[in-house]
Amino acid sequence: MPAECVKVIVRVRPFNQKERDNGSKLCVNANESTNSVELFRSSESDSKQFTYDYVFGPETPQLQIYQQTAFNLVESVAEGYNGTIFAYGQTGCGKTFTMIGDPLNDNMKGIIPRTFEQIISIINNNSDSNKKFLLRCSYIEIYNEEIHDLLSKDVKQRYELKEGQQGVYVKDLNIPIVKTLQDMDKFMTLGAQNRSVGATAMNKESSRSHCIFTVYIECSMTDDKGNERITAGKLNLVDLAGSERQSKTQATGDRLKEATKINLSLSALGNVISALVDGKTQHIPYRDSKLTRLLQDSLGGNTKTIMIAAISPSDFNYDETLSSLRYASRAKMIKNQPKVNEDPKDAMLKEQAEEIKKLRELLLKQNQDTGDRQKVDNNGRLNNVDNSHHEQINQFKEINNQLLQEKQRYENEMKEKSEQAEQERLARQRLEELLKEKEQMMIKGGKGTDDDKKKYKKMQLAIEQQKKDHEQLKIQQEQKEKEMLEIEYKYNSVQDEVEKLRKQVKYLKNKYEQQQQEQNEMKQDFEYDKEEFLDTIRSQSKEIKLFSGILRMILLQEDIEKITNCCEWNDDVEEYKIPPFNIKAKKVNFPNLPYQKAMDLIDVEKQERQVEIHHRPLPSSYRDVENTRIASPGRQRKGESQPRMNGNNDNKGMSIVEKTKLNQQLLEIYEGKSNKTQKDDQLEDYIKSY
Ligand code: ADP
Ligand code: MG
Repeated sequence: MPAECVKVIVRVRPFNQKERDNGSKLCVNANESTNSVELFRSSESDSKQFTYDYVFGPETPQLQIYQQTAFNLVESVAEGYNGTIFAYGQTGCGKTFTMIGDPLNDNMKGIIPRTFEQIISIINNNSDSNKKFLLRCSYIEIYNEEIHDLLSKDVKQRYELKEGQQGVYVKDLNIPIVKTLQDMDKFMTLGAQNRSVGATAMNKESSRSHCIFTVYIECSMTDDKGNERITAGKLNLVDLAGSERQSKTQATGDRLKEATKINLSLSALGNVISALVDGKTQHIPYRDSKLTRLLQDSLGGNTKTIMIAAISPSDFNYDETLSSLRYASRAKMIKNQPKVNEDPKDAMLKEQAEEIKKLRELLLKQNQDTGDRQKVDNNGRLNNVDNSHHEQINQFKEINNQLLQEKQRYENEMKEKSEQAEQERLARQRLEELLKEKEQMMIKGGKGTDDDKKKYKKMQLAIEQQKKDHEQLKIQQEQKEKEMLEIEYKYNSVQDEVEKLRKQVKYLKNKYEQQQQEQNEMKQDFEYDKEEFLDTIRSQSKEIKLFSGILRMILLQEDIEKITNCCEWNDDVEEYKIPPFNIKAKKVNFPNLPYQKAMDLIDVEKQERQVEIHHRPLPSSYRDVENTRIASPGRQRKGESQPRMNGNNDNKGMSIVEKTKLNQQLLEIYEGKSNKTQKDDQLEDYIKSY
């Protein structure tokens, strides 16, 4: 299995209106012929050079980008390879424009709609008309480390990741079968609509979510000996969240949790790339986020991967652009081991083919059974008629009644038989319909006209030629650089030699300095990341302290431990399964005292309570647990008023002793030990004050 590096493409977008209005300056030069990007700042003399597999400037049309990046990958996926295209970069730099663009405009449509067209073209223009294809697609979004299915009716529903024989997958995800270009467009549009509905419903920032559109292509082909071979390719088209740094300062509670989680998948992606490139570590942190778990194969695994880094040309975004270019340079060094996925166990085509075979056999058997019965039936009827006719002649009068009964029985039998025949006919019809439906799920290859086939072949050849030219250019460029160095060697005199060496030293020194500067800047970046993580840890520690403080006010340490011991971590949903529990209060005393005294009394009061854990088998899904969880005293249901314990103005004048007495009285009334009808104005007032 030959290793293949991740292909990295950089695309520079044009200046936007805001940048033009702000008078921002150009800081990026994209050189398409040398596949290099130069990043410079007018205030600095040094510029930075980066080289990639392809570099596209602001004027490059969508079609060219597709042909030089995705075209070959899509062909590979149709042959059974897995493929992934990531769009990476700062918000507003052209990720969605590159991936989707304007699907209704031929010049502006992006990679996803063009992919659909090419897949249908590949199927129709296939030279082997015995090939059958089965296409499916899915569309998901990862936001705040939650997975949502953009093709489902409920955009708020969270989906779980599962690990199976074929790797990590999303449990219960909708993966509808598609037969036409229109089907695929329909699902893409539905996904985009659901994405914006979800954004409003869940108050989320769409630039902070990752979207993955996946096309599954299965192909079955039969060789001369009648052996069937199935290949299954999967193409992930990923529009990542904006890569810009998020300021987490001042976020607390849910907002902090959200800000941290929002960045998690993208930082995890960066860490996975660094770990893969570093080569020193065996541990690649795929499990750190949903995105990296799901796309594990695309990074260092069985997938052909392309990363498109979208950058801005404006000096206003210099830092983010530098960071994107560095990220892209690192990604270039990832090695994958793509291979054709042959005869996968979970191939749907196989399942479908087996079902079709079974249906055919069933239908054949039913037709035979019906035929046999009809034969027997006809003979039986003739004999009966003959016999009865015979008897009718000989014993007409004697057995008249008997004959009438016979006739009745015969009529009943006939009716039953015709009902049975009707049922069989309906069952056959159902089978035939099912068979037709199953057969139609597959698309037969090679349906295109000769003209279409020729056109596709021509395009294939042209793109192949472009690729060759591009490779040639790359080789020439490298050759030129080499020659430049070699020319210098050709001087004979010592002086020339010295001069040459001096130049070489200067060149190497420059290179060394550049590398060192790069390293320093990267160190600075890591420092920044580290600071950010520490910042998060510090804020989270503060939050933990707050919550555990509150918890210790409510519960005894031993009760907390008792509950903790019964909690179970669920790796799939990444949450604790907490058993439902009750806090039974034996006595409720809540004094209005100075802080320390009040705290002491709370401790006494906690001793008076008892935690009861409801030990029953937990439902399989944590959400079920949440729905059925017994409301704990801390959770106040809507519309339910809760006693205002402390700081209650109405009870301000009351002493702690009085309050304790009234509480005790109230408790006895609730427990039925006392009778509420007893006249006690003070108690009435006390109850009213709640
Ligand atoms: P992102 O998805 O990275 O946040 P978008 O794709 O939404 O960014 O692009 C932001 C804006 O810039 C859009 O209006 C888009 O049409 C425009 N744009 C981006 N790249 C290009 C490009 N290469 N050519 C023309 N317009 C572009
Ligand atoms: Mg976008």
